[in-house]
Order: sequence, then structure tokens, then C-alpha cells
Amino acid sequence: MCGIIGFTGAKPAAPMLLEGLRRMEYRGYDSAGIAVQEGTQIRAARASGRLEHLCAMTHDGADYAGTCGIGHTRWATHGAPTECNAHPHLSNDGLFAVVHNGIIENYQPLREELMAKGYTFHSETDTEVVAHLLDMYYDGNLKNAVMKTVARLEGSYSLGVVCAEHPGELVAVRYASPLILGVGVGENYFASDVTALIGHTRTVIYLDDGEFAVLSPEKITIYDCTGAEVKRAPSHIDWTMEAAEKGGYAHFMLKEIMEQPHAVKSAIEPRLKDGRVVLGGLDLSRAQLEDIHSIVITACGSAYHAGCVGRYAIEELCRIPVQVEVASELRYRNPLIDEHTLLIVISQSGETADTIAAMKECKKRGARAIAIVNVVDSTIARLADDVLYTWAGPEIAVATTKGYTTQVAVLTLLAVYMADQLGRISPERYAALVEGITALPERCQRAIDLNSHIDRLARKYHKNSSLFFIGRNLDYAACLEASLKLKEVSYLHSEAYAAGELKHGTIALIEEGRLVVALACYEALFDKMMSNIKEVKARGARVMGVALEGNRRILTEADDAVYVPRTDPLLLPIPEMIPMQLFAYYVAKENGCDIDKPKNLAKSVTVE
Ligand code: GLU
Repeated sequence: MCGIIGFTGAKPAAPMLLEGLRRMEYRGYDSAGIAVQEGTQIRAARASGRLEHLCAMTHDGADYAGTCGIGHTRWATHGAPTECNAHPHLSNDGLFAVVHNGIIENYQPLREELMAKGYTFHSETDTEVVAHLLDMYYDGNLKNAVMKTVARLEGSYSLGVVCAEHPGELVAVRYASPLILGVGVGENYFASDVTALIGHTRTVIYLDDGEFAVLSPEKITIYDCTGAEVKRAPSHIDWTMEAAEKGGYAHFMLKEIMEQPHAVKSAIEPRLKDGRVVLGGLDLSRAQLEDIHSIVITACGSAYHAGCVGRYAIEELCRIPVQVEVASELRYRNPLIDEHTLLIVISQSGETADTIAAMKECKKRGARAIAIVNVVDSTIARLADDVLYTWAGPEIAVATTKGYTTQVAVLTLLAVYMADQLGRISPERYAALVEGITALPERCQRAIDLNSHIDRLARKYHKNSSLFFIGRNLDYAACLEASLKLKEVSYLHSEAYAAGELKHGTIALIEEGRLVVALACYEALFDKMMSNIKEVKARGARVMGVALEGNRRILTEADDAVYVPRTDPLLLPIPEMIPMQLFAYYVAKENGCDIDKPKNLAKSVTVE
């Protein structure tokens, strides 16, 4: 997500900052800015949109002579991607400039506190509180001001700070958001990833969460959160530039699969407070919800599949009928939608043309629309009555991975929230679900640990030219996405089938050696799935069984087993999808496909 850069040395900082930001453009951003120490002052430039605007505004940095500064490309989470909201943010007296990646979750009370003390805010961002906190705690000692400020922050943050009274000095802070230090000769750097540094140095130091560093041209000192100095040996980077842009992964798809624990955490953590689901930006009273007769979820592709999962959670918890329909069909169907319909619109980019059209059609008929999107201020976000962002960070690979899992996470939060507003969920069930949702990042991490096992299975099965994914209930909803993922990146033919439906026709296609991936994690129907597995085995299929950890019975029928971390059944498709994404990825890799840019597909489908 977005990029941070810092430089201190003997040559002008601005051109170096702009070049570093350019190298991190692939991470995705919507505005950019730099701040440079110029004598006893800090001068900043900020521009919305592409980096070119900032480069033009500063004459490629030539307008700035200072040799110490910070830069930022922003991927907006709090406030539109305007120049005002772009980083760096300055304290009112201009003493401090701050760049930030991540989310300050408790920014609202901090903002109120600082306003009461007379600080004026110039942006809508969560970040600006940091500049004013530094100012409030500063008494000439920069290190102490940083420590006191950081102690007040909740959420995720990598920060870069310059102070006008400390020429040549930079501060870098890391907590749950990436930041590395670069060691040069007579100059030092920090950046969100090595891409920005690799042209200057291959000697880097990794900061751990909770640590911060003070950098001058000659020296880097690292501290822990108590202020005690930390000794850390530098590491050597031997990546090529291209590999570094993917954070060392061979493809963006793999990188984004691996990012899911963090992405899911970003989607859920700010929405769980003291055991309660809090959906900022959404206000649906009990009376309003009771007035809703049906819910329509509309989307395309993987987002539609996320909707198929959401239906189970919403119907089970809220007891409101839910219909999920692909947007390109809904828009032309003269649907039965009125002011008693709640519309849920899902799109990673927020620009999907069919989804926009379906949404407009439903709104015209009086439906209230909640959007679940990743890209801030996208068209769908702007058209919606309420927006729930997935906060997954930019997704670059065309085949979505973290986009899907974060959509499912947000849908489940919405289901729990609505059920609670309606008084239709017991306190016990509520608490169990909140606990399950809280544990999701850790479950995702454990699913990622299956990586090498799935790689082996892909090598074994990649030559199958056609395969089936079967499952029941939520496993079936997950099959839809697992099958699409494989098709998208490996070009193999595959079909997702409700396991009980197979014998009503399609079982004729099961023949000797055909691979069937059987998703059998929904344990209430495990025995039914075992019967379906037996049916396909009897016709010569080879079966890759996907079951919950500890359920070794799957191997009494399946040829291979994948064990998914246990979670609440309504949350299953999140950890369950990770090995399926990895399977699609490794099969495509074995088959030599162009994984990040599959043929004929675009990331954001902005045409009908
Ligand atoms: N939450 C901050 C903002 O919206 C930082 C976003 C980012 O990581 O770029 O300004």
C-alpha cells in the first residue's frame, strides 16, 4: 500500500525523493508529496493524481536545494485523494512534517483533543494528528517527542518525520506497516520497500514493529519503544530491480496472496471495538432494517462470488431473504426492487461498468445501496448511500485474491451488525463470531503455511485439462471462486458444482483420471460430501480433498488432502480460499502462463 521515502545526505534531497517515489508507483497511489528542510524551514509540495504533477510542480525537484527530506505516495483511506489530504502534513507552526502509511484508528478522539488545545486541522486524514502531537510533545528533544507521540497511536503506521530544528535528521517509525532503512556512504535513507533504495544501496536494515530510528548522513540509531538503543546488523539485498518491485515474489499474484493476513486485518480491525462490531459510516437503525423486505447483492466475477458467500451469513443471521445476482443480468431484468430492498454492491475497483449500471437501476427503483469497495472515492463509492471500504491496499495482479477475502470479511461483519441491530442474534453467537473474525488474520497466516504442500500438489495435477470443484453450502460458494481463479490464471477448463447436483447430469463427465477438488470443510455436511466423493471415485476420478485440520477421515476416500485451519463455519471461505488461490497460482506457473496479466482480462472492467 502506497510508499514512503526519506533521504539525508550531502546532495539535494528532492530529486532523489521523487525518483524513489517513481520506483514505488507500482504499489498504487492517488496523490503524492515531498517535504524538504531548507535552512531553518520545511518546504513542502503536494499534488493529487499522478507523480508527474508533483514533478512538474517542483521542476523535478530542482526547486529545492535542501539535502534532507521525506516523500510519500498516498493511497487514501481517510479523506478523498485531494491535494489538501496528500502528505506530508505539517504542524501548525511548520516545525514538523510527517508522512504516514497505514491507519491511525484512534485519530478521532486525538483530533478532538488537539482541536480543544487550539490546533487547526487542514485535512480530513487520520495522519494529521501525528504532526500536531509531535508539536505538542516537543520541548527541543525530538526523540522524546516521537516516543510520546507514538505511545498515543493505535492502528498501523510507518512514519517519516522531519523537524525544522534538527537539520539533516530524519525519524522513521514502524508499526504493522512496512519500512526499511538504507545505509549509504555519507547518506542514509528509509523507504517502504527496497525498490526505492536499490539504485543507491544494497545494504539495508529491517526495523521491527514498535521500533524507530534516527537517521543523519553519517549515522543510523535504532531504538525500541522504551527508547533503549537496539543494535541490528545490516542485511545485503541481492534482488534484481524487477523482483524487488514485487517485494521479492515472482508475481504480484503470489505477493498479494501472501499479503492476506495483513489485508484481512486492515479490513476487520478498525471495525471491532471491545468485542463489538462498529461500522463507521453506516447507520442502519432497527426500524430501517425492519422495513427491509429483501436484500439484493449484485457484483461481477469474484466480487459476485464474495456475494454468494455473504448470502449464507446474512440469511442465517438476519433471516432476511437474500438474492445474489450478476450485475450484467440484474441491470436488464426489470427486477422486483423497491424502497423496501437493501442493495449491496461489491467491486474491488469501484469502477466496474456493469455493477455501476445495475446499481443506478436499483437506486432508481428506490433501493438503498451499501457499497463494499476497495478503491476510495471510486464511482461506486460515490454513488452509494453508505460505503464500507475493504482497505485491502492496491491490488495489481489481475486475478483478485486479497480483494475477494476482504470482501467476504466485510460482508460477514455487515451480517453480524445487521443481525444485532435487528435483535436476531444471541449474545453467545455474536461473541463467537466476533472471536472468529478477530482470529481471521492468524487463520489466514496458517493457510499460507500450506504454500509448499500446494506447490507439490500443483506439480502433480497441473496436466489435467479439465477439472471439477465440488462442495456443499459455504463450500459450494467457495468452489465458485476457486474454479474461477484456476480458469483465470491457468486457462484450464474447470467447473464448480454443488456436490449434490453432480449426479443430475454432469457426472457423465467424470472419467478415469479426472481431477475433482472436493471442498469438505463445512462439517455439518461432511458425511454427505464423503458420499459425493465416493460417487466420483467410483467413476475413476482422482480427488484432492480439502477438509478442516484434524479431520483425517477425508483421506479414507481422497487421494490427497489439504487441511484448512478451523474457524466459525460462516467464515470458512476466507482461510479455505487461500490454498485454492495458491493452487491456481502454482498450476499456472507449471503451465508457463502469464500469471499477473492473464490473456484477455483487465483489472478493472470499465466497459459493459
Ligand atoms: N491513512 C492515511 C491517509 O488516508 C495514509 C494512507 C496511506 O497509507 O497512504 O491519508
